Amino acid sequence: MSTPVSYARGVRTRLAPTPSGFVHEGNLVNFLVISHVAQTCDAAVALRLDDIDRPRIRGEYIDDVFRVLTWLEIPWTDGPRSTADMAQWTQHQRLDRYQRAREELWMTGLAYHCTCSRTQWNAFTGDSCPGECRQGNHAFQVGRTATRLHLDGIPDPIIWRRDDLPAYHLTSIVDDCDGRIDLVVRGEDLASSTDVQRRISHLLPGNTFHQAHVLHHPLVTSKGRKLSKSAGAQASPLTLSHELRATVSDVAATYSASAQADLLRSREC
Ligand SMILES: [Zn+2]
Repeated sequence: MSTPVSYARGVRTRLAPTPSGFVHEGNLVNFLVISHVAQTCDAAVALRLDDIDRPRIRGEYIDDVFRVLTWLEIPWTDGPRSTADMAQWTQHQRLDRYQRAREELWMTGLAYHCTCSRTQWNAFTGDSCPGECRQGNHAFQVGRTATRLHLDGIPDPIIWRRDDLPAYHLTSIVDDCDGRIDLVVRGEDLASSTDVQRRISHLLPGNTFHQAHVLHHPLVTSKGRKLSKSAGAQASPLTLSHELRATVSDVAATYSASAQADLLRSREC
C-alpha cells in the first residue's frame, strides 16, 4: 500500500452491507477495500446496515456482519457495535426522515404513483414507466402503487415501494447525506445505481450525495477461482479460515491499489 496521504480533514466513508443473507466473499473484499482506501485518506469509517427491507432481514444475518468485521479487524468510528445496538441504528428509526425526502421530491413535480405490475416492468426498457402513470394522477395505495421519480431517458426509479417502505436509492442518499459521507467505495455492479442516485440527489433539496466521490471496484475473481458472487444469497455462514483470509486479502489489495490511485488523481494531491 502507498504511504498514507493527508487530505482535507473530515473525509468520511462507510461500510453499508444489506443483511438480507449471510456475508459472502464479495462483501469481505468490499469491506477490506473500503478499509484500505479509508486509511489512504485518513477517512473515518461509519457502519450502516441497510436493513430497510424488513421482510428479507434476519437477526442471524446481522450477527454475521459483526462476526466478519471483527474477524477482518476492520475498525469503524460510528454506527452500531453489535446486533443489540440495531434497535437504535435501524433504518426503521428514520422512516420520518425518508418520508420527508419523498415529500420534497414530490414537490419537484417529477414524482408520481405508478400502478404498473412487476411483469410490465420486467419487459420495459424505455423512458418513464410502461403505462401512463405520470399523467394518471393515481393516489398512493399500499400494495398497489409505488412512487417513482421521473428522470429523462431511463426507466423511472422507485423512491417509495408498494409495501410502503422507502426504496434503496432514497434511503442510501439520505443516509449518506445525513452521515456526511463524502467518499463511497462500492462494487461496479452498483455503478448504474450511483448514476441514478446522483440524479435523485440533484433533485432533493440539500442532499449532498452527488458531491461525494464514488469509487467502483470490480466484482471478485482471483487466482483462477471465482469467489462467491457479490449478488445473491449466501446460504450459510462463511468458514472464516486462513485460506479465505489470504484469498480475499489478495483480491482486496489489487482493487485497493487501483481505487487509491484513482483517489489520488482526483484529489490532486
Ligand atoms: Zn406505471
